[in-house]
Amino acid sequence: MIKIIETENTEFTYWDNFNYKINDSILVSNDAKKYIYPNELMKICRPVFTKYYKKGMFMLDYLFWIDNIDIRDIDLKVKNNTFYDIDFERSIKTYFLNNLKCLQCGKIYRGALSVDPVLIYPKNFKLGDIKLKMINDENKIIKCHECGNAFTSKVLHISLN
Ligand SMILES: [Zn+2]
Repeated sequence: MIKIIETENTEFTYWDNFNYKINDSILVSNDAKKYIYPNELMKICRPVFTKYYKKGMFMLDYLFWIDNIDIRDIDLKVKNNTFYDIDFERSIKTYFLNNLKCLQCGKIYRGALSVDPVLIYPKNFKLGDIKLKMINDENKIIKCHECGNAFTSKVLHISLN
């Protein structure tokens, strides 16, 4: 299923799978499925396309819920058009890092989801601010599992490997 939805006053294309194709009109920092199997990614996040400022261009982000929910529940609600803002309140757009290195201990993580503090919600900066406040206030930004050092980016999830 691929569906254009609007929630929290922001519009994006929701995917309940990782079958998207990257082309010249898709802006993405790193394509997560090049590094992590889609069936693993399905447990963690959903791909979303958001219209970028430039016409015909889309940003690919990975929507991550900070409460470890079963995202299949959201898939079903989107499919049936029974979702509400509250279903997305605890979600935030992230980008994929294929090579996250801890500057303290040198541990390298091959997959992480991180929040871009500037670009996450184009045309909806207010929502971006609310989301950033949420992850900051609730200490959702994770640290190195090895040494506890903070990363330079706002990392919300690390794939264990
Ligand atoms: Zn470390």
